[in-house]
Amino acid sequence: MTIVDIGLPRRLVEFTLDGEQVTVPEGATILSACKDMPTLCYGDTLEPANACRVCMVEVEGSRTLVPSCSRKVEPGMVVNTDTERTRHSRRLVLELLGSATDLSTTPQVADWMADVGADPARFGPDAATVAQPAKVDNVLYVRDYSKCIMCYKCVDACGDQWQNTFAIAVAGRGFDAHISTEFSAPLPDSACVYCGNCIEVCPTGALSFRREYDKRAEGTWDESAQSATTTVCTFCGVGCNLTLHVQDNEIVKVTSPHESSVTHGNLCIKGRFGWQHVQNP
Ligand code: SF4
Ligand code: SF4
Repeated sequence: MTIVDIGLPRRLVEFTLDGEQVTVPEGATILSACKDMPTLCYGDTLEPANACRVCMVEVEGSRTLVPSCSRKVEPGMVVNTDTERTRHSRRLVLELLGSATDLSTTPQVADWMADVGADPARFGPDAATVAQPAKVDNVLYVRDYSKCIMCYKCVDACGDQWQNTFAIAVAGRGFDAHISTEFSAPLPDSACVYCGNCIEVCPTGALSFRREYDKRAEGTWDESAQSATTTVCTFCGVGCNLTLHVQDNEIVKVTSPHESSVTHGNLCIKGRFGWQHVQNP
């Protein structure tokens, strides 16, 4: 059962979405009223970053397409999500992302590409990419920036929106823009406290658990064979919810429910990574 936090009572706003009359609470975004809108940079626990441009929609009277993740619904607005213009825009954005980055572990993106007929290969073999070796510099998590689409979600999760550690930020300009620790230091020499809250929000798998990375490399990572069980962390009295992902009777990663009023998907190093003792023979 999905529990929707409706917050304080709000006035209702009526608008037209793909020809249907829809009513949403005042302040709701267009995206929140859409079913299955493709998006990469939107995070349900983060402020909209407006970075990926995958969720663009057409609003009558607006000269340009608008990002549905951040545009609030206005009374009488007429919104169309599936027009030749929105599909053309989504096709090009997905082609640009797919030609420059490795989207092989990005959930659903292959379906979105097929839906709009995106062909990243059309830019040719010489298209600029962010291909680079994965940064494997600690035993807890891996940074594979060849999969990074620069959505800023990890930076926001590490910074003032949740963790307030500021271990990572955007460095460089233009095509050289990239996510980096201070002075590109290895993670163990950076300010990182290994909460893993950046992994929780990364939409592409650029940030992944070391166990997941190793199992993918071995060819033994199998999400269809995994179960997910939510329990309460036993390390301290805060009561954070942990979702244990188990494959072949082994915990392979720990996430946290985003709708939890205690964690909102965030954990500390102990809850996120401190589970190896459970299966240490
Ligand atoms: S693990 Fe936590 S502290 Fe380290 S970079 Fe990610 S969000 Fe920041
Ligand atoms: S590492 Fe992941 S969360 Fe961070 S900017 Fe890249 S794709 Fe986004």
